[in-house]
Amino acid sequence: MLKTPDTKLLRTVAQDRAALNIIAGKMVGAQSGARIEIACPSDGRVFASIPRSGQSDVDAAVRAARQAFDAGPWSRMTATERGRILTRLGELVAENRDELAALESRDTGKPARQGAADVAATIRYYEYYGGAADKVHGSQIPFLDGYTVFTTREPHGVVAGIIPWNYPLQILARVAGAALAMGNTLVIKPAEDASLTTIRIAELALEAGCPPGVFNVVTGYGGEAGAALAGHPGVDYVTFTGSPATGTAIQSAAAQNNRGVTMELGGKSPQVIFADADLDAALPVVVNAIIQNGGQTCSAGSRVLVERPVFAEFTAELSRRFAALVAEPHCADGDLGPLINVRQAQRVAAMIADAQAAGIPVLAKGGVADDAPDGGYYQAPVLFGPVDPAAVLAQEEVFGPVLAAFPFQGEEEAVRLANGTDYGLVAGVWTRDGGRQHRVAKRIRAGQVYVNGYGAGGGIELPFGGFGKSGHGREKGFEALMDMSATKTTIFNHG
Ligand code: ADP
Repeated sequence: MLKTPDTKLLRTVAQDRAALNIIAGKMVGAQSGARIEIACPSDGRVFASIPRSGQSDVDAAVRAARQAFDAGPWSRMTATERGRILTRLGELVAENRDELAALESRDTGKPARQGAADVAATIRYYEYYGGAADKVHGSQIPFLDGYTVFTTREPHGVVAGIIPWNYPLQILARVAGAALAMGNTLVIKPAEDASLTTIRIAELALEAGCPPGVFNVVTGYGGEAGAALAGHPGVDYVTFTGSPATGTAIQSAAAQNNRGVTMELGGKSPQVIFADADLDAALPVVVNAIIQNGGQTCSAGSRVLVERPVFAEFTAELSRRFAALVAEPHCADGDLGPLINVRQAQRVAAMIADAQAAGIPVLAKGGVADDAPDGGYYQAPVLFGPVDPAAVLAQEEVFGPVLAAFPFQGEEEAVRLANGTDYGLVAGVWTRDGGRQHRVAKRIRAGQVYVNGYGAGGGIELPFGGFGKSGHGREKGFEALMDMSATKTTIFNHG
């Protein structure tokens, strides 16, 4: 039975107030007056609209951020004061947690409990970076006689954050938390499919004490507002999470101004299951790592490598679990929700059809709820196996609920297969053998390696980012504060 998503609360937030840009502390529409209609992925029905911003809106936002960085009260605040504002923002997110979770869930189609989990992580990000703001310090360097040298960490200035639609609240929080802690100002371009909670957070940031112009939001299409922001000469640093192709476009745009970038570009992350592993412990984690958020997670565990002696047993149990999975509207809070939009649903369906046409066996398929609205963008989960390591399905990110299983024998082959894509974001290693845990974890090329576990998303304290096609730079944890600042060396000649 579906619960109605049309609560009075959501109408107020999404339609009456939230769907405006925030520039210099004011809520404004696009200068052209153009708007983009926003549909809920669960039923495809329009329930809100956002400004379709262009170059002039981005110019205004960058100008506001520049002014706030150069001359506003922000530039004179101590790190402790900035930290208090972030901590207060975390508290305000907590006070508004139900509204934010419901809005995120409706905007993206993610199950209600995932929306709630995203808000919990968001609170933690602002709490963490609020506390971290005044813990960053430089060093004193021994130099020539008569000199004193020290380093400080300086903000870049105006940071542009281009945010994807899969975890808008969380990814905004990891960008904004680290950038503001270090004293930067922000212009955020949320994804056109999921902008509503970003606007709400910027509003709460003002309430928390962020001076006007410190936290600006311009909504719109990637090729318009996004491209204008990425290549804007008034931007000092660009941080992006999204697809590799868009990452390339954004890096090219930023390179025209020789600006630094942080890029988090997805993965084809493996979970390696050795025959001696605790299979009962691994199974639910392997399922969750690909089903969470409908597989639309950069760090999704989209490949499972299983040692031959247990391949049949493990994939049989995995198949049983996959067959029981059901995609449902976000408010039903099922195993997974719909995909974000028609384009993504068609892309995922095409990759599944191509894999089948290439003769890759389907081990199991889940379902879509009977009462799921026709207009929603649903995709039943699919487990493929055994998959040829050279197949497109083994190499390319699907960004949907599709898991590819591979048999292997021994550590050498495990490492070769695990490292056998252009990506390198996250990996999981499951074995009871302590020596093997260390050997394999060491040889896998990924930004995060879990041993006997896997954490898609979350882990606020844990540095996160990729090797190879998965991108460069690190977000989360203390390391993100380094990406969001640069070292200044001050040299005194005092004789
Ligand atoms: P998708 O293709 O599913 O929309 P993307 O990785 O392209 O995923 O989108 C992530 C973010 O990048 C969104 O905010 C989107 O608007 C933005 N974006 C897309 N294309 C560009 C571009 N050429 N320049 C800047 N931002 C872009």
